[in-house]
Amino acid sequence: MENHPNRVGQQLGNYQLIRMLGRGGFAEVYLGKHLYLKTQAAIKLLHGQLTGQHIRLFTREAQIIANLKHPHILRVLDFGVDTSMPYLIMDYASGGTLRQRYPSGSVVPLGKALTYVKQIAAALQYAHNNKLIHRDIKPENMLLIDKSFIALSDFGIVALAHNTSSIETADT
Ligand code: ATP
Ligand code: MG
Repeated sequence: MENHPNRVGQQLGNYQLIRMLGRGGFAEVYLGKHLYLKTQAAIKLLHGQLTGQHIRLFTREAQIIANLKHPHILRVLDFGVDTSMPYLIMDYASGGTLRQRYPSGSVVPLGKALTYVKQIAAALQYAHNNKLIHRDIKPENMLLIDKSFIALSDFGIVALAHNTSSIETADT
């Protein structure tokens, strides 16, 4: 992971990368600011050079996710490829992840837990109705939009990034 440069300050599509928000197993996530609209977005950039086939599959999955419209599913705003590295532009959740809000070992009040579970269940039901399986449900992938309002992120992206055969199951 060390040989993946920090791209803060660089431009990606219409966005300038302001700071790194985090990094996962397969991607780095940056806070971006739109050059013209001045809006903020989170930009997830996949590590490493991918083959044309990887990019085609990744793009197809991004198309599916971009069509999901649900209040508790994080919105995908755009997608691009920069020197063979695909990136996804999505809503920026300023509240961070549920894991950041509740570090491992902390106690989530029952009322809050219930609120979160209802929201994620609704998001998953909607996804399942669209024949999509998330495959990576965890607090790191639940983002706080507002105090008690969360959105599920990372649909299939991770599974795709390291297992290209898994995408085939997405629409069969
Ligand atoms: P992985 O997805 O590889 O299993 P992960 O979920 O921790 O691991 P990413 O989805 O790549 O990793 O995200 C890394 C971190 O970036 C998240 O844990 C979170 O802190 C931050 N992040 C991701 N997406 C957003 C977003 N839309 N808004 C704000 N912060 C985000
Ligand atoms: Mg994630």
